[in-house]
Formats: sequence, structure tokens, C-alpha cells
Amino acid sequence: RVKLRKALRPSFSERQRRERVYHQSNAFISRSDTPEEQRFGRPLHKRRYAAKDNIASLGLPTTCGSKLLQGYQSPFHASVLEQADTLNNGMVVGKTNLDEFGMGSHSVNSFFGRVRNCRLGVDYSAGGSSGGSAMALLPEEAEDCSFSLGTDTGGSVRLPASYTGVIGFKPSYGILSRHGVIPYANSLDTIGIMAHNIGRVAKTFLMISGHDEQDPTSIPQHTRQRLLPEAYSESIWQHQRSLQRLSEAGGWRQLGAEAVIGVPMEYNITELDPEVRQAWQQTLETLQEAGCKIVPVSLPNTKHALSAYYVIAPAEAASNLAKYDGVRYGEKAEDGDVSGDVLYSATRANVGDEVRRRILLGSYTLSSEAIDNYFIKAQKVRRLVQRDFDRVFTKPNPLRDPEHFDLSDMDETIELEDKLGPTQVDFIVCPTAPTRAPKLESLQGQTPLDSYVNDVFTVPASLAGLPAISIPFKDPQPGCADALPIGIQIIGQYSDDIRVLGIAHELT
Ligand code: GLN
Repeated sequence: RVKLRKALRPSFSERQRRERVYHQSNAFISRSDTPEEQRFGRPLHKRRYAAKDNIASLGLPTTCGSKLLQGYQSPFHASVLEQADTLNNGMVVGKTNLDEFGMGSHSVNSFFGRVRNCRLGVDYSAGGSSGGSAMALLPEEAEDCSFSLGTDTGGSVRLPASYTGVIGFKPSYGILSRHGVIPYANSLDTIGIMAHNIGRVAKTFLMISGHDEQDPTSIPQHTRQRLLPEAYSESIWQHQRSLQRLSEAGGWRQLGAEAVIGVPMEYNITELDPEVRQAWQQTLETLQEAGCKIVPVSLPNTKHALSAYYVIAPAEAASNLAKYDGVRYGEKAEDGDVSGDVLYSATRANVGDEVRRRILLGSYTLSSEAIDNYFIKAQKVRRLVQRDFDRVFTKPNPLRDPEHFDLSDMDETIELEDKLGPTQVDFIVCPTAPTRAPKLESLQGQTPLDSYVNDVFTVPASLAGLPAISIPFKDPQPGCADALPIGIQIIGQYSDDIRVLGIAHELT
């Protein structure tokens, strides 16, 4: 056996090459290459994967990319890791770099340095905040990780997928357990899956999507069986939920002909790069050729979604991060914390600028003088964004009772436009981001607002808790092979995860 292992272990130069790639991209904060593994090569029977460093793990530290949690060792494995290890025979190879606590769009706000998406000697943004999880999958030939896990609060899995050319799937809110995921904004946080191939994404999704009683927001088993019958039927479970079974159960691959695709008019913004617009158009043509019907739809409240997100997410973050005082949570600052009237300030000064900005913003929007005008209003906008989606999807939203849609009190403050009447669609298809990955260098003079704009197409699905996937656009007539990838996003109704994976399969 030792001989066989030796024969099959990656060559020294291959290992060196991988190390160089990872070193260059700064994708990992910690790696699990044990001395045993270094001697004998990787265990062949395990499916290796990477997990974002805000997902608690045994064996490797969990830092959230923050100085506050440097070296922190969790006493337990997050439920999704537990499920991936036991049901999918997985093994975490390393914890990936991220924007501190998930706050950012380019993976440059990390205490452990920026993630670099290096192509032809130039450093581009890897997207954020799960940029490390995307880069852990590159280059494809390294085959070090078969998939990676990230978190998506407002686009953090989809944006890196789009910038780096991999698939990034954010399931419906409440399907994957968040037990062991260090919270950023609880009402939005979702585990996301990244891989090169849609089959791997789907299979991983099925493997790690069991109900978890340790997560109070995890959809109960009997509701799952009702919402996603294809994924949770007994027979699939017994047959290890294979994709083939899923296909037989009718949720997979047999969409084509009847699917109606909505094209949201409001997403055709002036900031959209012409090449991204063209990729969007070509994708729609491909879907049309496959027998889908393409119709324009209106999501009029989309234009308020980004502002609402950047009120709600920092408010929840300010509340979540209050616990890092160096007493119960977080590394206590060396020079002591109580001096004069000041408590904890030295410890709390250990967070980066972006996290500080969000805490300040969130504390303000939750304060008594501002809460009505910011936080409460943002919650109402969130409801309107959800309502827009519910109005255009053929499938009703199983979580919402129509009686709760009375938003008449909003009339004075927000225009309630119904531009197109009740167009009914199965999916919405749009770009994942307005542009390709920017150069890291070009981010330097940017204001925080410039970076928030990257999330304009990903945030609406997050506010509504809907399943959304980013897939790399496949140019039918590839021009320049070195061109940076473009991501196309498919959004479905709540709990329509399997069909979203199915249509993504048609396009990949
Ligand atoms: N860029 C967004 C933010 O900074 C999204 C981050 C995320 O999804 N974790 O909030």
C-alpha cells in the first residue's frame, strides 16, 4: 500500500507548482497539509474541499480574516462541514481568505492580505467576500479542491464566481445550515457552493442540505419535503440522492421547452459594460434556441435594493459584532483595555476600516433618532423587493401569505410602479455583476460606495432569500482566450433551487 501511495502521490514539482499558485493568490489563511500527507501524498479516498474562514472548523483556526480572531480555534465543526465530511466523504484542505467578517466585494479587506486573481502577470479582483474560496479552485488542472464553500450575504459567492470564471450557487435562505457560520447579517447570510461543474455543485448541495436542528432558521424536514420534493423524497435519500435519481424525479434537465425566462428591464443600467450586456443577450438567445420563451419583466424596486441592503446588513453587523470586546469574544488588545472612561476601545480598534465603517453605520441607523428613517424604511423596501419578485414568478412564494402584502402605507415614500402588469416567468436571467473583474490597482482610489455598486445585481435575490446561481458565460465564438470571465446569474422563486440548478445545467 505504501508503494502504491508513493507511486500515486503528486510529484514534487506538481506540489511546488500548487504551492506557488496558492501563495501567489493568497487564497488560503490556513492549510491542512499534515506531515503525513506531505510524506505520502493526499488521501485518495477523500473528496477535498476548501471552506471560507468564517465557517467554524475543527483542526484549523477560524479567523474571519480578522485580527480579532487570529488563531481562534473552534471547539466544533460547522454543520455544513460535518455533513460534507460524513455524507460526501469530504475533507477540508484549508480555510480560505475573505474580506473581514464577509464585508467587501473584492477580498481586499483581510487582515491576512488581499486575495489576488493573477492573470498574465496582472492582479485582478477575485471578487468578494469569498474570493479565497473561488481562487482555491484555480487553476482547474491543479484539482486540489473539487468544490469550495463560501458564504453569500449580498453576493459574496456569486461575485467571486463571476470574476474568476467558476460556478457559484446561493441556495434559498434557510436550506443550508448556518450553525457554525460566524454571523455577519443573520437575515441574509447563506452558505454558498462553488465548483467548476454544475453536477458537483448540485451533488454537494444535496449532500449538505439536511435539516439541522441546531440552526433555528433551518427549514424543518417536513416543510423541505413539501418545498423541494425532488430533493427530499425518500427514494432519493435512500439512493444517496444521486443526480440521476433527481433527474428521474422530474426536477432536473427537463425544463428547456416550457421555461419562461424574465429579463428585468431595470437591470439594463448605464453602468453595464457593453461586453457584459452582449454576453447577457447571447445567453438569452441560447435559451431561446433551446425552446425557452424570453419576456421582459419589471422589478421596479430594484433601484432601491442596494441602499436598503447597505442599511440592513450593517445594522445586523453592528449588533452581531458588539460581542467582540476581548472579554468573551475576540483577542484582547495587549495594552489593556480599561483606561479612564474607555472600555474595550483598544480591543475593538483591532478591526479594519471597512468593519469599523459598517459598525458605525449600523449603530447610527439603529439609533432612536434614525431608526424610523433608515432601518424601518429599509425593511419596508426589502418587502417591496420581495413583492416584485413574487409578482413576476409563476410559482407562488411558499413562505408568504398574500394578506401580508399590504404596503399601502408606502405609497407616499416609494413609487409603486407596475410597469408591465403581471408577467409570469419561471426564472430571471441577468448579469451577475455590471463589469468584468477590475484590476486591483484600479481599486485604490475608490470610495466604499464604488465598491458597493458591484453588488447591484446580487443584492435583490439576497433581500428576498431566493436561490441564485452565477455561471461563467460561454462565448459561442470565443475571441480572445485570455479575456476575463463574465458571470450570468439565474434567479428562481423561493425553494425552486433544483430547477435553478437544472437551467444552469442547460447553459454550462
Ligand atoms: N459585498 C457585500 C457586502 O460587503 C456582500 C458581502 C457578502 O455577501 N458577504 O456586504
